[in-house]
Amino acid sequence: MELTTLDPTLQLDIRYATPHNFMGRPLYSQARAFLQRPAAEALVQVNAELKPLGYWLLVFDGYRPWRITKQMWDSTPPEKHEFVADPQLGSRHNRGCAVDVSLWDIAANREVPMPGDYDEMSFRSYPTYAGGTAEQREHRDLLRRLMEAHGFTVLPAEWWHFDFKGWQSYRIQDFPFDKL
Ligand SMILES: [Zn+2]
Repeated sequence: MELTTLDPTLQLDIRYATPHNFMGRPLYSQARAFLQRPAAEALVQVNAELKPLGYWLLVFDGYRPWRITKQMWDSTPPEKHEFVADPQLGSRHNRGCAVDVSLWDIAANREVPMPGDYDEMSFRSYPTYAGGTAEQREHRDLLRRLMEAHGFTVLPAEWWHFDFKGWQSYRIQDFPFDKL
């Protein structure tokens, strides 16, 4: 299910379709985001609850073909492996049941500052990190609270990564976006 088809107000910043990511080169040929339908519909509900608060959801990544997960693992030094999925096990992204998100400030028309950056791969990425400003932590915690209220669970190492309940029942896939 393509996210912007379901809700065109979901904001996209598909970093892996640009060189602006931890790999330093584009991994996707198309800047699109997909999830399994139940996860996509839950995300739309989170977006609807954010709107009266002045935010949209900003989506960095959804379904990710398995071969991309393999490339990420192979290019990441072992000491940073807690921040990338082991291709032997596959990623919840490969099942279309994980999404990387942040908040978009509607009035300011920009990404909301968080305690750490997307894919930063440092202790600032932990959702329990107590640093940054109080306002940054409030934004991070608001995102987590709303996502958890709609069936998502945050990854202990990444404040932006959420898995959707029931991901175990979906298979790991390797289709590119234009074959979905
Ligand atoms: Zn993720």
